[in-house]
Amino acid sequence: MKPDPITQPPSDASARKAIQPVVCYPRDTLPLADLAAYRAVRDDMELVETVVIPPREAATWEVPAGHFCRMLCSEGPQVGDLNLFNLHDIEERFFSGKTRALNGTHVGLGDQLFSNFPYMRPIATITHDTLDWYGFDEFGGSVHDVIGTRCDPYTNNLLSNGGQYHHCCHSNLTRALSQKTGLPLAEAERHVHDVLNVFMCTGFTRDTGQYFMKASPVRPGDYLEFFAEIDLLGCMSACPGGDCSAQHSSDTAACYPMVVEIYKPKRLPEGWQSPPRNGYDRSHGVQA
Ligand SMILES: [Zn+2]
Repeated sequence: MKPDPITQPPSDASARKAIQPVVCYPRDTLPLADLAAYRAVRDDMELVETVVIPPREAATWEVPAGHFCRMLCSEGPQVGDLNLFNLHDIEERFFSGKTRALNGTHVGLGDQLFSNFPYMRPIATITHDTLDWYGFDEFGGSVHDVIGTRCDPYTNNLLSNGGQYHHCCHSNLTRALSQKTGLPLAEAERHVHDVLNVFMCTGFTRDTGQYFMKASPVRPGDYLEFFAEIDLLGCMSACPGGDCSAQHSSDTAACYPMVVEIYKPKRLPEGWQSPPRNGYDRSHGVQA
């Protein structure tokens, strides 16, 4: 339980609290992707690669710009923790925080996934989501969040009195990235970042604002698909939490493999161009 407030409310407390919120980044101010143009090329595409991610492990794959990538639930409900990098420079990577600020707590059809500063640009666009029917449930939960960070052995160590669990998503991603890039483990770990929680069902409790999870509604055959805006390196962990209905950071949950498919469309979306790096001049107001 959090402690009760110790400050007396001011006389105009209710008036201050009654002020209507304003959406920080209204959708009509965002340079949104032309979803129809992307979807028009999906009917004619060729499967070029399939990657299987074993349970409680991670795997990497490459998606050339202009290709589609599907992340599938294959054998049973399973959550995936996704990292994305610029294939040619892994300093540029998915920026969960800004993606959340621009799109909301959970991402879906038509949403763009952004990269970190100073690159900040859309690096992927979500083009299909078989769970888009879910919306928000009565608890305020939804799928594919960009609010969680990833399960990790450091938090587990703090919360479990010195536990040493090695198959948290953070460690799985670190091992897979190290293997792919040849970077030493500690070096690779620096590049592992806050994830897109594919298929995970989460929210914040209305009364205490605490991060919650509940059993994912995902079923075999469901998938989340994105279009690669730049050449990407994908890395995803099949979370030890399984469907994340009860716990993670242990080997107790039922876990399943996940499948990643890369598709090459016969043609590119009408008018599409790979977005350039962010145009801000980086002077921060200081004259050269
Ligand atoms: Zn995890």
